[in-house]
Amino acid sequence: MIYDHIMVRFGELSTKGKNKKDFIRVLARNIKNALSEFSNLIIETRFDHIYVVLNGNDPEPVIEVLQDVSGIHSLSLVYKTDPEIENLKKVSLELIKKEEGHTFKIKCKRADKSYPIISDEIIKHVAGNILSNTSLKVDVHHPDILLSIEIRQEGAYVFCKTYPACGGYPLGVGGKIMHMLSGGIDSPVAAYLLMRRGIKIECIHFASPPYTNVGVIEKLKDLLSKLNKYQPEIRLNIIPFTKIQEEIYRVSDESYAITIMRRMMFRLADRLAHRRGCPAISSGESVGQVASQTLESMFTINEVTKLPVIRPVVAMDKVDIIELARKIDTFDISIRPFEDCCTIFAPKNPKTKPSLSKAIEYESKFDYETLINEALDHVEVIYVKKEDSLL
Ligand code: ATP
Ligand code: MG
Repeated sequence: MIYDHIMVRFGELSTKGKNKKDFIRVLARNIKNALSEFSNLIIETRFDHIYVVLNGNDPEPVIEVLQDVSGIHSLSLVYKTDPEIENLKKVSLELIKKEEGHTFKIKCKRADKSYPIISDEIIKHVAGNILSNTSLKVDVHHPDILLSIEIRQEGAYVFCKTYPACGGYPLGVGGKIMHMLSGGIDSPVAAYLLMRRGIKIECIHFASPPYTNVGVIEKLKDLLSKLNKYQPEIRLNIIPFTKIQEEIYRVSDESYAITIMRRMMFRLADRLAHRRGCPAISSGESVGQVASQTLESMFTINEVTKLPVIRPVVAMDKVDIIELARKIDTFDISIRPFEDCCTIFAPKNPKTKPSLSKAIEYESKFDYETLINEALDHVEVIYVKKEDSLL
């Protein structure tokens, strides 16, 4: 007797009322996509759970993949069987014999209310059979083995092992955001956190060749291919930013260059977000890290866009951001020494409290609208995809 199904629980999803159907549909599609490397798996969608029928596959690697799919709260390796009571007694005994431990507890859920025996009675029958055929003892507080039985219309599921998964929402249910991706540590982590909340990302990057190395693009592709684990296809929009940046340095005092540069970045992100159907912008900004990330700076920079700007790592400590970057395997790529336009053009004394009127005054000295339109006309688009993506 071997476990033949994986039961997938939704967690936060279950609380979503009428949207539940949509959520389950999206989650089932994401699960299918995540498991595309396995052959013969069947995904069964039911009202309360999704089931993966193993069809002879080894469960461990399947569980490992599922643990990283957003929207899954937990997983159990289950045996599906006839709910008839004598059969349940037999199956439960066989399954519990394979487990290690001295004590047990039985949990029973009778989701199919037409089943003739109530949960407490089922537990009595099954536990009695285990007690008289093994040396196991009952411990209702700290059992070594927790045997669960769920009676549903399509059959009974019996299991002893439950695995935690990452929670969150299924990718796609939260819509799409325009994410500002630099080659640094923070923005890939911010992207990951958004994807965990069900939000798809599309990326915008500002490139300033020849000041920035073309290797940056390879670095971005490598970062995105790590993020493909969570979103199988990611669109990267590369904006030619050199002319704008040169003009900024020509017209403004060095101490205002970063402020104006970031205002231009947000203007571009805003335009592209509208074009691409994204109702919000996101970034890897973290408050207080650098001069451009003080609240006063954010005020002056944010003023150019009406779109919400989501900053998932805004209040996180750098050490915690780094820990996440290691977890999602982007850290080693992020620390590769390629110059970014922020580092190259970094002034010696940037303003930590740039005034809005001063920024507007400097900007009035050049025709940035024309340059912005020109940059948008020359966007380079790259799709970074998981190789076996079904999307
Ligand atoms: P990161 O580690 O993500 O690069 P950082 O701590 O180096 O962040 P900044 O360089 O000030 O901080 O950038 C803050 C945020 O602005 C980045 O997280 C990113 O979202 C955005 N950003 C900065 N430079 C670029 C760029 N060249 N292209 C796109 N977005 C950028
Ligand atoms: Mg950076």
